[in-house]
Amino acid sequence: MRFKDLSQLKRPKPLIITLGSLPQHILMAKYAKDKAFKISERVGVIFEKSFEWYGFTLANNDHPELITDIGLPQNDLNLQDYTTLGSQRIAEFQESLPEDVLINGWIHSHGDLNYRHFSNTDEKNHLTVLDFVAARTRKPLEKKEIAIQDLVLLEKDRFVEKDLEKGSISLITDGPITEAKIMETIYGSFCYSIVIGDEGWHEQQIHYRERGILSGHTTVWSRSTNIKFIDTQRTLKPEEIQAIGKEVKEKIQPNLNPPTELIERM
Ligand SMILES: [Zn+2]
Repeated sequence: MRFKDLSQLKRPKPLIITLGSLPQHILMAKYAKDKAFKISERVGVIFEKSFEWYGFTLANNDHPELITDIGLPQNDLNLQDYTTLGSQRIAEFQESLPEDVLINGWIHSHGDLNYRHFSNTDEKNHLTVLDFVAARTRKPLEKKEIAIQDLVLLEKDRFVEKDLEKGSISLITDGPITEAKIMETIYGSFCYSIVIGDEGWHEQQIHYRERGILSGHTTVWSRSTNIKFIDTQRTLKPEEIQAIGKEVKEKIQPNLNPPTELIERM
């Protein structure tokens, strides 16, 4: 048998139906941005020196893609802490939040360093945060046909054990059928990662994970993107600024003598 051209050998494309999409840009309330830079400013004023700090970006359950606030967890031994940013620590912080608030990413500061990109340690932390927030930011993205070679169709009560030895997948139905398509839901999750500097700069990425519910096929990727700042009419009030100062004092404990390897990893 001869083919006229190789395109005839191509497998048929799987059927895909789009159900939803993941954010392409970061959406952030101006209030949250102001709060992040206010934390950096307070750190500088309170400790008379600039320090790195980290926090979580927060959203409401009904709009997980919009950062509405910044949450400041206990940063024990700054510098060292987020090198070990673990799911336990994120879980503790999530538990302290109201029911309708979720963590949709993390934010940290590089202080007054002019290091305007993510470090290798940051890259690991992105994945830790993604792993934790994935369940909360998860949504169905598409229904995708699973290409099954050697699908065996069997009829309920009309097959014997021996029939199950055949094929890669057996589909047992309550009536006779001759053809079947199996379509799985592909779920997608995201987490935001933002790094800021005292001078007002910010760099950011979105990290994504997609997983097929049946095949278990998983892809993880990220993109650098921009932030769309949204005016939610909320502004930092003087009493909030005071509260931020109090929180900074309580939660940020600068490591005044960081080992050199920690300085290098920034
Ligand atoms: Zn960093």
